Amino acid sequence: MRPRPRSWIVPVLALLVTLVPALALSALPRPAGGPAEPAAAAAAGGAPRPEARDVVLAVHGGAGTALRRESTGARTERAYRDGLAEALRAGHGVLRRGGDSVAAVEAAVRVLEDNALFNAGKGAVFTEDAGHELDASVMRGSDLAAGAVAGVRHVRNPVSAARLVMERTRHVLLAGEAADAFAARNGLTPVTQDYFWTQKRWDELMKAKQTRTATGTPDASMTGTVGAVALDGRRGLAAATSTGGMTNKMAGRVGDSPVVGAGTYAKDGNVAASATGQGEVFLRGAATATLSHLVEFGGMDVAAAAHEVVVRRLPKLGGTGGVIALDSRGTYAAPHSSEGMLHGYVTADGRIVTRIFPDERGD
Ligand code: ASP
Repeated sequence: MRPRPRSWIVPVLALLVTLVPALALSALPRPAGGPAEPAAAAAAGGAPRPEARDVVLAVHGGAGTALRRESTGARTERAYRDGLAEALRAGHGVLRRGGDSVAAVEAAVRVLEDNALFNAGKGAVFTEDAGHELDASVMRGSDLAAGAVAGVRHVRNPVSAARLVMERTRHVLLAGEAADAFAARNGLTPVTQDYFWTQKRWDELMKAKQTRTATGTPDASMTGTVGAVALDGRRGLAAATSTGGMTNKMAGRVGDSPVVGAGTYAKDGNVAASATGQGEVFLRGAATATLSHLVEFGGMDVAAAAHEVVVRRLPKLGGTGGVIALDSRGTYAAPHSSEGMLHGYVTADGRIVTRIFPDERGD
């Protein structure tokens, strides 16, 4: 008896011939300096679009409840826009003078830490026992060096302490009193806890405690964390994030902001990202590392990857927030699944743009 012809062989071979090159291509790194892919994705219809191109530095001032056009007075609007713009000018100034992306993100974040409007440095939120515990991190894309501090109580500019950890220790993350002492030993002037006090944050703590009393469940809310991403003249990427955490958080609680791969990530040739939102979810979802991996290994452009993480994946873990992400061609994305996210960017030619209302969007 003649064997039956293997009728499945031909279609399977045809499928392999089609699929293998396509899979191999999707794993290849994208050529630097090539045309921006997000435009093509947008043209395909409905795909997430980047916020802007030719961006060299971007900052965020936190995700959470949105500022509403109807109820935001001109002075408040001006204060937020000026705060973001001042940080952008500081970081851009560093880049224009030939400084690297690490120095630029540090300079930008320090300005936001010194501004009481934001939940980082001066103006940090209160813990449940009415203290302030601050977290910050910085990452350099050229060699994946990183530094961070968690739960510091006496450092005026935690982002600078994070940079010192990166540059002067063999470690990545220092926490608590020893981190405060390290910062002071390395020249950062200590401040008392009073320095961080603001009426606004105190009122928020009181409100959170009332909510707890009324419902019996602990309430911790987030708003105003800051961060920056930058691309320097040598195509070096860096990211930094700094926060007081969440209002009414437990003493000792550490969120995503000082954790590399959760709140902050940077890798040259790929992306720099700084996150804001419900830290526990950004930690569990390894948010910024996942974003970077989706670009590097998943073949996604920065806008699609940022959207995938923040809008599609993290809400399934039970939390919302936003991210600013910049790739090594200057393509910038700023998606959020929270109601709002304050952010802004500066382009290579020095144009500064701030976004504080949810209906403001880029190209
Ligand atoms: N992600 C910060 C934290 O969980 C809070 C925020 O971004 O508002 O500590």
